[in-house]
Amino acid sequence: MRTGSQARAPGCRSIDVLRVVSLCSLVAAVLVTGRWALHRQDTLGRPRDFPAIAVTLALLVAAGAGFPALRHARFEHRLSEVASALAGWEVSVRCQTMSQAWTEAHSEAGYVRFGADDRPEPLATITLETCESLRSWVGSDHTAPDRAEVIAVHVLTHESMHLAGIRDESVAECAAVQRDARTAVLLGADPARGRALATAYWTQVYPLMPTDYRSGDCGPRLRLDEKLDDAPWTAVSLANFPIFAARNTSRTGALRLASRTARRSRRRQLSEGDHGAGRTDPTARAGR
Ligand SMILES: [Zn+2]
Repeated sequence: MRTGSQARAPGCRSIDVLRVVSLCSLVAAVLVTGRWALHRQDTLGRPRDFPAIAVTLALLVAAGAGFPALRHARFEHRLSEVASALAGWEVSVRCQTMSQAWTEAHSEAGYVRFGADDRPEPLATITLETCESLRSWVGSDHTAPDRAEVIAVHVLTHESMHLAGIRDESVAECAAVQRDARTAVLLGADPARGRALATAYWTQVYPLMPTDYRSGDCGPRLRLDEKLDDAPWTAVSLANFPIFAARNTSRTGALRLASRTARRSRRRQLSEGDHGAGRTDPTARAGR
């Protein structure tokens, strides 16, 4: 999924390096212990002391470096569970490590590969930056996500729609916007905040997506409307709008444009009961 420029996050730690450091430290601890076990007496027959300091230091380094790697694996497992629930079958989500981010340079925030039989592989890859935003949002109280966090949650939903077998970008995107609230809830948000996040994406990000990600059939009562209770165009969802955290809404031209688009959209909602150019009345679905 393309979401515009994907700047590298220079401060991100490298899980690959930490894994190697952890493994090497563990091996060193084992080797030192083994060497002591094989040579427990010196050449004069005196007992050698156990190299407690060296082994302890090696184990501490192994644990210190291993913890972030374990945390990374647990986070991927959590994302995989959410993606499996959305896709309807068991799939995996992989967060890029720093080295993978460098070697797999591309403009996609995430991707799923399809086989020759037009079926998706059971794996979605999400960029390092997107995963960091996802982790940031998951660790927050979900009340004021910034734009990157909203997009990151949506990227997980979007790739899950590809994993469900939808190859067309605009169809996957429309299916995703209707499930962003569910994704947010599966990741730990309460339903109101999940709806708010989904509505933020629909009103502030979706209108700015590349044309191949948008469809004139995506919206309330249109062909791609799956009539889900927590679709972003329901009155209940719109009641939670706006959402973006103030700290990020004026950083870039794109964000300013998103804010203007959202304000115009909001004015239309208030004055005409209409959501977005050419779209039908979202309040007609109140209570569903
Ligand atoms: Zn896509």
